[in-house]
Amino acid sequence: MDCPRCHLSLMTTDYEGVEVDMCSQCWGFWLDSGELEQILERRTLEFTPDERRQILDARTAFSTGPTDPAPCPKCGKTMNRLSYDESVHLVIDQCRDHGVWLDTGEIKKIQAIADRSEAIHRMLLTKLGIIPGA
Ligand SMILES: [Zn+2]
Ligand SMILES: [Zn+2]
Repeated sequence: MDCPRCHLSLMTTDYEGVEVDMCSQCWGFWLDSGELEQILERRTLEFTPDERRQILDARTAFSTGPTDPAPCPKCGKTMNRLSYDESVHLVIDQCRDHGVWLDTGEIKKIQAIADRSEAIHRMLLTKLGIIPGA
């Protein structure tokens, strides 16, 4: 499987106890369906209020990622761009059949949002169809 941005081979790595595919060049992450929920449920990564503020600051470099949709590394179809949280310019690429692609820094952003408010976060995930509604 190749990185949809750099076209280099993704490497398997352990992220918060979940086996994921990562690009060592751009630090993008490919998460198979279900893996994002697993990472968020574990919540092993802890943020200090300062770190959280920095990650979720719309003006930081983390906010500017590619704006074109990535092709799914599994099937090659153009993925859907899902607006996860407009206030921090977080838009993720999702293949309904295979999983989600997170560009540089996006995984931390999602974790910081989850850390800030579990309820808001669940609502966003459900809205996007990433987790089934209660
Ligand atoms: Zn890459
Ligand atoms: Zn796919």
